[in-house]
Amino acid sequence: MIPTIDIFKCNGCEICVRACPPQVIGMVQNVAVILTDLCEECGICNDVCPIDAVDFKLPHYQPYEVHEAYRPVR
Ligand code: SF4
Ligand code: SF4
Repeated sequence: MIPTIDIFKCNGCEICVRACPPQVIGMVQNVAVILTDLCEECGICNDVCPIDAVDFKLPHYQPYEVHEAYRPVR
């Protein structure tokens, strides 16, 4: 799951910035932002945020149904 930050909640404390292992969280106008392409989805930013401004969203890769015609014949 990729975390997202509620920019209206974030108070700019930078706790998540310091806690992110790959250091992919930065500050823009005193709000934390995540470089989602480089996020390792560890969830630590969500754990450490003291005001619950970090949330998760569904991954961009969704499970998909394999069409019947493409299923291997057994
Ligand atoms: S989930 Fe982990 S890697 Fe991704 S932004 Fe949060 S702390 Fe950093
Ligand atoms: S820990 Fe929470 S409030 Fe602090 S900068 Fe990160 S998202 Fe914002």
